[in-house]
Amino acid sequence: MKTLIEPFKIKMVESIRQTTEKERIEILKEADYNPFRIKAEDILIDFLTDSGTGAMSDRQWAAMMTGDEAYAGSKSFFRFEKAVKNITGFKHIIPTHQGRAAERILFSVAVKEGDKIPNNTHFDTTRANVEFNKAEAVDLVIPEGKIPTLEHPFKGNMDLKRLAEFLEKNHEKVPMGMTTITNNSGGGQPVSMENIRETGKLLHKYDIPFFIDACRFAENAYFIKLREDGYQDKSVLEVAQEMFSYADGCTMSAKKDAMVNIGGFLAMNDETLAMNSRNLLILTEGFPSYGGLAGRDLDALAVGLEEVLHEDYLKYRLRTAAYMGERLTASGIDIIRPTGGHAVYIDAKAFYPHIPASQFPGQVLCAELYRKGGIRGVEIGSVMFGRKNSDTGEEIPAEMELVRLAFPRRVYTQSHFDFAIEAIIETYGERDKAKGLKITWEPPFLRHFTAKFDLVD
Ligand SMILES: *Cc1c(COP(=O)(O)O)cnc(C)c1O
Repeated sequence: MKTLIEPFKIKMVESIRQTTEKERIEILKEADYNPFRIKAEDILIDFLTDSGTGAMSDRQWAAMMTGDEAYAGSKSFFRFEKAVKNITGFKHIIPTHQGRAAERILFSVAVKEGDKIPNNTHFDTTRANVEFNKAEAVDLVIPEGKIPTLEHPFKGNMDLKRLAEFLEKNHEKVPMGMTTITNNSGGGQPVSMENIRETGKLLHKYDIPFFIDACRFAENAYFIKLREDGYQDKSVLEVAQEMFSYADGCTMSAKKDAMVNIGGFLAMNDETLAMNSRNLLILTEGFPSYGGLAGRDLDALAVGLEEVLHEDYLKYRLRTAAYMGERLTASGIDIIRPTGGHAVYIDAKAFYPHIPASQFPGQVLCAELYRKGGIRGVEIGSVMFGRKNSDTGEEIPAEMELVRLAFPRRVYTQSHFDFAIEAIIETYGERDKAKGLKITWEPPFLRHFTAKFDLVD
């Protein structure tokens, strides 16, 4: 059979409120052309993020009913701990309310001023937490990982040669090395098993611990099974177990591949590091057996970790992104290739060659996709990463102008995707009519969340 079906059926539904294009033009104006300012009920298809937006299964909801809300030593904690240990093999499992809480604790206890942390590409909260501790976040992804249309099976790989040189020079200042699977900031691109193994080896040569940013570990494991020699006959669980076997710990946002709406964890083998982490956890997150979560959250997480490794699910998951990517590419729309696991990234610079970076083509595309199809994506370009010249106030554009369409897990069906694809292609047909945007108000930090825009005359 050529048609791939969603490997689930629907037991509960949430209605989508229909809007007309005319209404959406008004809503856009009221939201000052910033999708973050649009109410969720005014969105038809929400591709803003895949974080915490997934649908839980009947088994997860059932598990929530068995949640044990004991403050200390709850049964839910032990079920959660067992599920994480089964996949990662790490000795110490510390729950946190989300991924960045795990990062904050890890870097607070293990990183000091002047340190340097290598990673394939730091995710933005990871970078922010490293820098908050006055250390330097160094990105060492392979050069292929930075060329949007270049096909490579493992575009998230660490550049091992540069890592070796970096460590030779800086190893005394490196308290840990990391790799992010999949490489979110680089387009959700996977990292190969060989690369994970060799990264571990290089770090261990200097006794430097190796941590994995594991948010999309299951998607990464399935890419390895599909693309790397020697893994075709292994289960995804076995592939995941091998990935973690080369590392000394991990941080995890359970809002991604643990299929829950909130949660995360920090895991490690080192006794002292675990003790220090738990001491800080008690101060800010909660007792080590709940870490800022309810017992029922831990139970949903434990079940989610098991479900995410089902091959039917992963096949459907990766195929969804690939399908949208193929259809857009066939219509002449440039995207980051190949598609990664959780999102499609459209090149807005190529989409709107007549709109200069100073008029935010990515933001324009977000606004246009909303107008045309009620679709919400996010700009990853000069609004998010642009800076201002401190003397002249002039905008310094970002390297790329992208729009990310990230896919909530198990939420949208094939026809939702077909609708979105049609809307994108129609928007492309009307590209000549699109006008640039200018910022009319912006906050001092993280402007993309709240900035206001207006059309350029
Ligand atoms: C989402 C994410 C994080 C942060 O997790 P939160 O749960 O959002 O705090 C860290 N790293 C990567 C790669 C992520 O995708």
